[in-house]
Amino acid sequence: MALSDFERYPLTFGPSPIHDLPRLSQHLGGAKIWAKREDVNSGLAFGGNKTRKLEYIVPDAIAQGADTLVSIGGYQSNHTRQVAAVAAKLGMKARLVQENWVDWPDPLSDRVGNIQLSRIMGADVRLDKAGFDIGIRSSWEQAIKEVEDAGGKPYPIPAGASEHHLGGLGFANWAYEVQQQEQELGIFFDTIIVCTVTGSTHAGMIAGFAGQDRPRRVIGIDASATIEKTRAQVARIARHTADLIDLGRELNDEEIDVREGWAGDFYGIPVQSTLDAIHLTGSLEGMIIDPVYEGKSMAGLIDLVASKDIPADSNVLYAHLGGQLALNAYSGLFR
Ligand SMILES: *Cc1c(COP(=O)(O)O)cnc(C)c1O
Repeated sequence: MALSDFERYPLTFGPSPIHDLPRLSQHLGGAKIWAKREDVNSGLAFGGNKTRKLEYIVPDAIAQGADTLVSIGGYQSNHTRQVAAVAAKLGMKARLVQENWVDWPDPLSDRVGNIQLSRIMGADVRLDKAGFDIGIRSSWEQAIKEVEDAGGKPYPIPAGASEHHLGGLGFANWAYEVQQQEQELGIFFDTIIVCTVTGSTHAGMIAGFAGQDRPRRVIGIDASATIEKTRAQVARIARHTADLIDLGRELNDEEIDVREGWAGDFYGIPVQSTLDAIHLTGSLEGMIIDPVYEGKSMAGLIDLVASKDIPADSNVLYAHLGGQLALNAYSGLFR
């Protein structure tokens, strides 16, 4: 099947906007930086990259006659908040397992930001003490069973929608959207920078861009701090997605480019480079990024431009995947 043969349920406004970041580019003194804004891609609870993935998953949930979306993430998961919004939009229920992924001392982390919005939207939010893991969890399987036992029809969506068999399609399509926007803008982005944790955002992009004639670099910046797991997951999902959309060739190892060095020691804990990147981006461009994901990928971009790994004549597209609501649970920062 070609990508265009997969059904897409509209949850976004359409193509997400692309704009340049002239003051940041000038400050860094190298490549020209642009941003593509998934943080403003939808009217559903502030949207984000998971909303785009869910556009290709919702048709399957509807076809199966599901009445409850069951998913999992940390207390401040952007993903579960987007699942809650989509469930509300579809007239379904949401059952969310929220694990204690981040050891960050903010007393309100289970009340403000993402989790507050999920509760507002009527999701059944259950806290769980388990720590960070991007794999399949028993608490999530338990939640699925409980929905069934209560007579519901659960539709399981794994963490970040990544281990879902259709999880890579949203960002495979993003690659074609970029190509279309490039024609309108009269520009070619030779380098894409994207944050990667559960993997299907980066993986989908790799599969999508691999089908285009003109090669480019798609660099994932790890924010999981479990680099080997994330690299393996990106590779597996990229190859699976490439098969799904009939790429017609094997992806080679060089196309799976996940970089480490900006995650710090733990998922969800910002380090100095994260805070510097957040402050720089906010103060030069008025563009807000978060301490869990985009602050780390922006720190990576800044260093890759400074080191000339990304050459000065490059046009770089920074994928802003959302996530700002989590800032509410980091009230101790920037005081
Ligand atoms: C989930 C998320 C990511 C990482 O995307 P994956 O597909 O899980 O790798 C990056 N940024 C934000 C804001 C996210 O919510």
